[in-house]
Amino acid sequence: MNIAIDGPAGAGKSTIAKLVAKELGFLYVDTGAMYRSIALYFIENNVSLDDEDAIDNACDNINIEIKYEDGVQQVYLNGKNVSLEIRQEQVGNMASKVAAKKAVRDKLLSLQRDIAADNNVIMDGRDIGTFVLPNAEIKIYLTASVKTRAKRRYDELVSKGESPDINKIEADIEQRDYQDMNREIAPLKQADDAIFLDTSDMNIEQVVAYICNLTKNKSGD
Ligand code: C5P
Repeated sequence: MNIAIDGPAGAGKSTIAKLVAKELGFLYVDTGAMYRSIALYFIENNVSLDDEDAIDNACDNINIEIKYEDGVQQVYLNGKNVSLEIRQEQVGNMASKVAAKKAVRDKLLSLQRDIAADNNVIMDGRDIGTFVLPNAEIKIYLTASVKTRAKRRYDELVSKGESPDINKIEADIEQRDYQDMNREIAPLKQADDAIFLDTSDMNIEQVVAYICNLTKNKSGD
């Protein structure tokens, strides 16, 4: 069984998906981490986003592997575990740019589909319900207002001991929404058969319970 969760940056997709995966015994697949790993490679190797040959060449030299260690997804970029490094804001912003490139998306598509074919998965991203897993049994479009998403991200960074600027976070979120929703290939949009869930006024437990119930009802059909 496949659950597809799409939505904009900071909507809570990974937090929710991890908890649902735990409760249902599904594998959680974070596709954003794959784009982030490619972004990290582009940053470290100064790959120009204007040079299509350099992008193709980079894609040929990149090997992304997904492993599960104690049930937690780990991403390996050319043999190195980059799961922590890719969480930096700078990498997330670059990921949104590299994700607009066809060569990059083509590279990750089969990796994502293969994992879903072999396992019960809950997979989150931007184009999972619309493109990667069009036949997913459950599709959710998870969103929240820009202000709510910025505040959640701010709180998360503060809890890690950082002193972020909330206005900058809000501006980054708006820019990422724009890039992700307006690109030519696989733009972020709600699949026709996805359930729209605005979590601005819902807590994590409510959203998790909602998706788990939906899945249990569906598998009982
Ligand atoms: O979800 P996360 O913030 O980790 O994703 C980083 C970026 O990767 C997103 O802004 C988006 O541009 C891209 N992405 C994508 N398709 C996916 C997952 C992520 O384009 N399925």
